[in-house]
Amino acid sequence: MPLFDLQGPERNRPAAAVPPTGSAAARKHGIKPMPALAWNARVAAETAHLYERIKTVVPAVEWPVFAPYVKAINALKRERNAVILAHNYQTPEIYNCVADFVGDSLQLAREATKVKADVIVQCGVHFMAETSKILNPDKTVLIPDSRAGCSLAQAITGADVRLLRQRFPGVPVVTYVNTSADVKAESDICCTSSNAVQVVESLGADKVIFIPDEYLARYVAAQTKVRIIAWKGRCEVHERFTADELRMYREGDPGLQIIAHPECPPDVLAEADFTGSTAHMIDWVRNKRPRRVVMVTECSMADNVQAELPEVEFVRPCNLCPHMKRITLPKILDSLVYMKEEVVIDAGVAGKARRAVERMVNLKN
Ligand code: SF4
Repeated sequence: MPLFDLQGPERNRPAAAVPPTGSAAARKHGIKPMPALAWNARVAAETAHLYERIKTVVPAVEWPVFAPYVKAINALKRERNAVILAHNYQTPEIYNCVADFVGDSLQLAREATKVKADVIVQCGVHFMAETSKILNPDKTVLIPDSRAGCSLAQAITGADVRLLRQRFPGVPVVTYVNTSADVKAESDICCTSSNAVQVVESLGADKVIFIPDEYLARYVAAQTKVRIIAWKGRCEVHERFTADELRMYREGDPGLQIIAHPECPPDVLAEADFTGSTAHMIDWVRNKRPRRVVMVTECSMADNVQAELPEVEFVRPCNLCPHMKRITLPKILDSLVYMKEEVVIDAGVAGKARRAVERMVNLKN
């Protein structure tokens, strides 16, 4: 079914800086000395098993730069009773060598509900760290760079949602997790790209407001009889892919498999052999083991799957997410040494947002 309506500004809003956070975490947990970061035979021996995991995607010449940070971060995690949650778009040395849990937004949100540690370091973007804090109000949640934003999260505010509710009274609001805590707090339920159709249909409504990703909304609308009122938000990474470039890849190799994320434009999805969330895309490659595949999504994910499945050849139309790439090993180490940047959310907003996130997390698969 085509969209019922499309709301929102004509252009994406410019990215606003995420507000700086305080140092309450440093006062609570204390500051540690910065570890030595030398590359030597001992560091090489202690980290050799970790390099094994990424040797197909990280050249040996780069490992002496990464290894001292990897060793120091893993030691500090134990001292701090901390865990690292890393999104599928993180670089291979983070995803494979320091993360305790990896996954898409839904998997990370589910992991966040089970975390036993005192401290969570979120290697992803700010809305993901907010989701972890919403689900763990008593834990310290850190993000190594609080400027790691998201064009979708910037596309809509809590005030916009209140206006939409006035314009469409009684219509429930389904909110993609790629939004601020403020927006989640105004929503009935959250969703991710893994479960968006299931969430929309779970409400039993004939019409829903689905925010903020227009392309994900179009993808959902095509698969359900529920009428979808969408918002003009876009992912700045996925909207850059074009159907022409995918046709060009296919002409060069007709046996090539193309799998795409639903944040891509509809004509791009029309060229794909499979469409799914990052977790579903990874599962698809694990199960099908294609000879050659294009993953139409942020390009670090292909590196991470390549490290696991070296026999699959990945064609990489490399669109990097500049926000995800703000997270680096030196910044993760700084987080654990200085307990920064702490994610702080107003308790009233967090409580309302928690209802919307938990309603999604508690949906049966
Ligand atoms: S890839 Fe797109 S949706 Fe994901 S964090 Fe980056 S800008 Fe946001």
